[in-house]
Amino acid sequence: MNHKKLIWQIFPANLLITLAAMLAVSWYGSAAVQKFYIEQLEAALQARAYLIRERVSQLLADGSLEELREFCRKSGREALTRITVIDRSGKVVADSNEDAGVMELHNNRPEIIDAYQGHTGTSIRLSRTLQENMLYVAVPLTWQSSGRDPVAGALRVAVPVTAIERTLKDVQLKIAMGAIAVVFAAALITLIVSRRISRPLEEMKQCALRYSRGDFSQRMSLHKGGSVSLEVATLAASMDRMAEQLNERIGTIVKQRNELEAVFASMSEAVLAVNTDERVINLNKAAADIFAIDEKLAPGRLLQEVVRNIDLQRQVKQILENLEPLQEEIVLQYGTSERFLQTNGVPLHDGGGNNIGVLVVMNDVTRLRRLENVRRDFVANVSHELKTPITSIKGYVETLLEGAMDNREDAERFLKIIVKQTNQLYAIIEDLLSLSRIEKLAENEEVELGLGSLRQVLEEAVQTCLMKAAEKNITISLDCPEKLRARMNATMLEQAVVNLVVNAIKYSDAGSEVIVSAEEKAQDDGTSRIVISVRDFGIGIAKKHLPRLFERFYRSDKARSRKLGGTGLGLSIVKHIAQLHGGDVAVTSQEGQGSIFFISLPGTGRESEELGVRS
Ligand code: ADP
Repeated sequence: MNHKKLIWQIFPANLLITLAAMLAVSWYGSAAVQKFYIEQLEAALQARAYLIRERVSQLLADGSLEELREFCRKSGREALTRITVIDRSGKVVADSNEDAGVMELHNNRPEIIDAYQGHTGTSIRLSRTLQENMLYVAVPLTWQSSGRDPVAGALRVAVPVTAIERTLKDVQLKIAMGAIAVVFAAALITLIVSRRISRPLEEMKQCALRYSRGDFSQRMSLHKGGSVSLEVATLAASMDRMAEQLNERIGTIVKQRNELEAVFASMSEAVLAVNTDERVINLNKAAADIFAIDEKLAPGRLLQEVVRNIDLQRQVKQILENLEPLQEEIVLQYGTSERFLQTNGVPLHDGGGNNIGVLVVMNDVTRLRRLENVRRDFVANVSHELKTPITSIKGYVETLLEGAMDNREDAERFLKIIVKQTNQLYAIIEDLLSLSRIEKLAENEEVELGLGSLRQVLEEAVQTCLMKAAEKNITISLDCPEKLRARMNATMLEQAVVNLVVNAIKYSDAGSEVIVSAEEKAQDDGTSRIVISVRDFGIGIAKKHLPRLFERFYRSDKARSRKLGGTGLGLSIVKHIAQLHGGDVAVTSQEGQGSIFFISLPGTGRESEELGVRS
């Protein structure tokens, strides 16, 4: 931009005008003074000419030329004026300063020509005779008698104009000095005035620059004093109003954007916006987490660079082509695990209804799908578990009906098998009912936990199992501090411990030992946990089974479990009961050496001790 500052637009122009005006004034002034002087002098010379004209005319008419010359010389000396008398032919008759006889004809001099015509003639020019600038005034000399040419000649008086020129030069010098002084004063005033005009504008410019940078902390009109012009003050006030409105609007936009961003960021659904070139416009934190990408780096990049999923890319392409909403389910691979996403894609439109891209909202339905799978597997497992005893019962009943009933021994054997299988069915259904009851309680958070003596619960569990232990000649020992208290549902916890002890007896050889113990252990984070353990010295469990041991219907040794009347649900019930108490389960085992099952519950710490002392 080739813009000049305001001061450089006002200042030189003003200076030029002042200079031109001063030049014109000085020129006109000095010309007027010169004219005035010359006119004055002319008038004076004319008066002198008139004073002596009478006498000169007389002497010329008389023809007394010598006397005339003497008169001219004398008068000229006294009046410091050159006096010349010229006759009608132009010949110089007398001259106060020179010898008339040697002087050339004067009839072509302009003042003489005028005088010959009967009026006063004037002229300023260089005198060839005197080599000096002279002012000449010539008046006509007339005859007294009539009938002849009234003009007898011309009387010319002259003075040098050098003095006038000197005076004029003086006057012109003074005028010039005055003009220079005025020009300087005008320049100074112009500078001050233009400064006064441009300074508030300069300040306004700075303020406007701040506004453009988004800084609205200062207002323009605050800086302007009373000296600024009405126009500038009005301009400043309207710019302030504009800035205020701008600030307000920016504030509103920023607020709305922040709110939108907060909503966008805190949405649990993953949201991804893509433009028509399939470049990411934006995505929220949930989306960045799902695709394991940096939320800040993704915008502007191609979708296929950001999300390596063919299905999602295809869905976006399809929506861009058809401009129709599209719902799909895609699977993301994370190493060996999978994540299921339900993707709802819709075309994005701007204010004018033009398509500007696609918005995809994704719901993580992995848990839902897993639950569905679990349920499906569970139903299959239950059917399978029920089918085995039912097939067996059906087979034996049919055999009995087909005639085996007649043989009492066979009939009794078959009926015993039927009873055993029925018991198995009953046990499975009992365990399933227990499981569903526990799950329901957990879902509705209806379990009532109360602080109670843990030893008492463990004692009762051991008591329940004593019969079974005695059958195999197994001893059960209990090691639990008297005052140990836990926040629990006693009936449920007892059932969990019973399940563990029954398993321990089931999978131990006769004459073995089962140890039930409980203790409160302090944790690193200052809390404590109550750990109940059931240890046996039986067959143990192979390492590969341990991670899935607590799953429903999972058995490490299917044949043995069935033979022993196991349902495959016992440990699953234990896990659910532990979780209901805010606790967990664990197992360590070595094949052939035995296993230890743990139930850990949140500790009660001092609360438990205080109550223990009181009880
Ligand atoms: P089950 O009714 O078959 O015992 P559980 O859920 O109680 O079902 O146990 C699951 C499986 O864990 C059992 O089939 C068994 O193979 C194994 N198991 C459980 N407890 C023990 C234990 N104390 N010693 C060895 N194996 C065990």
